[in-house]
Amino acid sequence: MQQDHSPATAADLDAQVAELIALSAPRQRIVAFTGAGISTESGIPDYRGPQGTWKRSTPLTAQAFRDDPDVRAGYWQRRRTGYHIMADAQPNAGHLALARLEAAGTLMAVVTQNIDGLHQKAGNRPDRVIELHGTTHELYCLTCGTRYAGAEVQSWLEEHPGIPVCSVCGGDIRPATVLFGESLAPDVWQAAMAAVEAADLLLVVGSSLVVSPASSLPRLARQRGIPFVIINNEATPLDGQATLVIHAGAGPVLSALADALIPIAG
Ligand code: NAD
Repeated sequence: MQQDHSPATAADLDAQVAELIALSAPRQRIVAFTGAGISTESGIPDYRGPQGTWKRSTPLTAQAFRDDPDVRAGYWQRRRTGYHIMADAQPNAGHLALARLEAAGTLMAVVTQNIDGLHQKAGNRPDRVIELHGTTHELYCLTCGTRYAGAEVQSWLEEHPGIPVCSVCGGDIRPATVLFGESLAPDVWQAAMAAVEAADLLLVVGSSLVVSPASSLPRLARQRGIPFVIINNEATPLDGQATLVIHAGAGPVLSALADALIPIAG
């Protein structure tokens, strides 16, 4: 029978947060591993949660993007009308709590599956945010490699609805994200594994933990004897292996953690 970790009452949740604080307080090398769930409180839908976009549409695969002009046209059309959701989103209490923990010297790195750039916007140092799936805020030419900022391509799309091409060589451009069917960049994956191996606590936040190989990072922590905590709205396949599971919103739980760990100045 599956174990039920759901907090039955507010008192249970308070007790779980107290346990999280007690587990985190002596640690100085916490690493956060985040997924789409940390950004839903900023208005960006996740994929697989109850309101997830996969309830309405299918994921974009690398093969379809490469081979099917209709798929490419559909992508640029959706980007033209939808990029502002990513571009205008603001970090929420969860992102800000992680930035506060980093500034306090407690959080060593953020490994994220997200492509929204909200950890950096919250104040986490860019060189300490490992973006496993790239970023939607950059694009590049498939032929000559010229890179473009998201805002630049957005201006172009708004003036010329259609398929943008490289202004240097006329080649096709694409987002600097990892599409379904593509592998993660090996150096990025190595950096993520190294961060987890150097951690003394892994906070897994807002991920369904079904996307491989990202879901193997909590397993790696477990193999190395590093405790890991899952903070997620709903059950995940790794709940039974976690040191602590909190089924609740990321923002309130991470805020409570940062408030408890960071002494108030003055
Ligand atoms: P997912 O959609 O598979 O799972 C998100 C999980 O977070 C769900 O279990 C959901 O119940 C939970 N959740 C939702 N809101 C929450 C909240 N406020 N607090 C706590 N938990 C919450 O996401 P995933 O595991 O990251 O995998 C999806 C893939 O989708 C990733 O590869 C990612 O690149 C991509 N994605 C990214 C974004 C983004 O950049 N913001 C958005 C959608 C999808």
